[in-house]
Amino acid sequence: MDKKTAPPLALRAKWVFPVCGPPLENGLVTIGGDRILAVGNKTDAGNVVDLGDVAITPGFVNAHTHLEFSGLNAPLGHAGIPFVDWIRQVMAFRQTQTGDWKQQALAKGIQECIAGGVTTVADIASSPWLPEANSKKIDGVDFLEILGGSPQRYEPLWQGACKLLQVDHNARLGLSPHAPYSTHIELLERAARWAKKKAVPLAMHLAETVEEAELLASHSGPLLEFLLDLDVWRPDAAPRGIRFLDYLECLARAPWSLVVHGNILGHQEIQFLAQRRQQMALVHCPRTHIFFQRRPFPLREWLEAGVQIAIGTDSRASNPDLRMLGELQTLARLHPDIAPRRLLPLVTQDSAAALRREQHIGSLTPGRRADLAVLVLPNHASDDPHELLWESPGVLETWRHGLRCPAMEN
Ligand SMILES: [Zn+2]
Repeated sequence: MDKKTAPPLALRAKWVFPVCGPPLENGLVTIGGDRILAVGNKTDAGNVVDLGDVAITPGFVNAHTHLEFSGLNAPLGHAGIPFVDWIRQVMAFRQTQTGDWKQQALAKGIQECIAGGVTTVADIASSPWLPEANSKKIDGVDFLEILGGSPQRYEPLWQGACKLLQVDHNARLGLSPHAPYSTHIELLERAARWAKKKAVPLAMHLAETVEEAELLASHSGPLLEFLLDLDVWRPDAAPRGIRFLDYLECLARAPWSLVVHGNILGHQEIQFLAQRRQQMALVHCPRTHIFFQRRPFPLREWLEAGVQIAIGTDSRASNPDLRMLGELQTLARLHPDIAPRRLLPLVTQDSAAALRREQHIGSLTPGRRADLAVLVLPNHASDDPHELLWESPGVLETWRHGLRCPAMEN
């Protein structure tokens, strides 16, 4: 039967977490077609499926990943690996890949996302870009990575990205100037002008490491040595003394942008982002942060400052898997100073807002898309039902556009 004409269906769960309101015990989510019709303790639907001792949450939003690394079984390097050593391993990994490795990794990554309750993803893809590989199986944005310290390197990438953007009729694509150490400032400025004119979003890794700060401030340090080694360093690519704020000002020209990591941004930059929370978000990747053994991320301070925060896994090159539940549980463990009810929105509603999709997804609100994650719950009660999520062993099933996900394969 066509899903648009199928009669409404209600899913009952021990706990329903609408995110836009308090958790509901023995709650019901009523779905009609690809939409949520109602959320509460009653339903008009004739067809009620009791899912048992589970939780229903909105489908998770992974605000930063690189799905093309999803073929990896374990992160590259070791915990606490110096950043430059890790980049060398990433480059070496790419060079050993052959055939349709990227296509296969994308398929595997999407499958893992869906199995883990993720229904929307912000993916960074390197050239040759394969955006069509993602588009029908998972929602979100494919950011086309552009980089290069010299015009010889970045012009072909730029031309290729522009061609794809011109035929992107579903507003599925964005641009990702990679990072200050890899991307000429002129390329970023060009991307920002294009983004403003054509209403294209931007995503950029920024202020991830102290090595990056050292390179920008004084043209020295391990990143400089690394770039010299590769013979790709151009001093004009990132003029000495250029500030993270200069990069943020560029990104602010886009209709919306994701600032990825921002681990070492200071007060001034935090204020800058807070004042632009409608169009700029900071993406924090908790388990990747732990992998690199970075100093604790001051999440509460960022939230209190009013910055729009989104959460991502980053890639399997720095994370053992792509489970957003793993990120949520890590947040709960590392941030006991943040109210439990404030954490689930970070991986759903807030990450949806960062992608400017909060009117469509991210909460169980009537009229929004029926994208759901169904989580196994531990076999006991808790004063705060959110804490049950911290102990959930995993995602039981995922619903996307009103359909249980295996059905989406047809
Ligand atoms: Zn990344």
